[in-house]
Amino acid sequence: MALIREVSRSKIKLPYRTYYYGRINTLPPELIGKRVVILVYEEFEEKSKDILRLRLIKQFCEYVLNSKNCSKMFNIVSKTWNPVTGCLHYCTYCWARKLALTKLRNHERYKKGFIPRLNEKEFKTKFDEGLVFVTDMGDLFGDFIPSDWIIKVINYIRKFPKTLFLFLTKNPERYFEFIDIMPPNAILGATIETNRDNIYLEHYISRAPLPSRRYEAMKKLNWDKKFISIEPILDFDLEIFVKWIKEINPIIVYVGYDNYNNKLLEPPLKKTLKLIETLSDYTLTIKKTIRPAWYEGLNKYVN
Ligand code: SF4
Repeated sequence: MALIREVSRSKIKLPYRTYYYGRINTLPPELIGKRVVILVYEEFEEKSKDILRLRLIKQFCEYVLNSKNCSKMFNIVSKTWNPVTGCLHYCTYCWARKLALTKLRNHERYKKGFIPRLNEKEFKTKFDEGLVFVTDMGDLFGDFIPSDWIIKVINYIRKFPKTLFLFLTKNPERYFEFIDIMPPNAILGATIETNRDNIYLEHYISRAPLPSRRYEAMKKLNWDKKFISIEPILDFDLEIFVKWIKEINPIIVYVGYDNYNNKLLEPPLKKTLKLIETLSDYTLTIKKTIRPAWYEGLNKYVN
């Protein structure tokens, strides 16, 4: 071992450990005789980022696992935050649009309908530790959202490194545009309700990019905290759908049926349970609303 002479007593406290930093020319006395690793600063920075990343993943998993009732998204999030509202994907099952056009129609944000808008007032919100669902009343990464709005949101969440921010979109290709400025406390999610594009096309489910495009984007996305929501679930091909999810490699998958009686082309319950069982071997799979498909109860009326 090289002889190290001068000592800097400066320390950095990171989870689980204390590190010395600065120009170290001799070992601090308490380290003499112990097994030590000396890293150049750049390497140390890289390792620190890894620790932070792992800590955030652990934090997210703990929120999910410790929540008393995981059947609703809102039970794992400490807060929803809507710096941008409105959406032009026109999903047939969209509860947010319905809410905006009925109960909330007189609210300043929805007077002109469910059109995208930036809500400046939201940039005064303060966040503690916790999990924040960003924009549940819209799709922040829709092609119809100006880039500077998204940059404003990302820059704002940087101010709260201890808070986890969950994004969910049906246009994950747009994540690539901002990946270089995305802070480590962001969880990048996508909704993929099925692997079958034809259901989307034949039943006019939505104007959002087709499920296969979302899968391709999420598969390519180089981010360690990915999240997939299979909700509301639509009929699927088990083998292909499982392959998709495995390739995307999310830390958590949510699976749930439609909550709003939209009579969608749903898979039978048995098939969904098989999907959940298979996915559980690869990733943390959370059941949301799980019930028989709406048509399954009708069999008794058929002779
Ligand atoms: S993407 Fe979300 S907010 Fe937009 S229409 Fe579909 S369900 Fe509604």
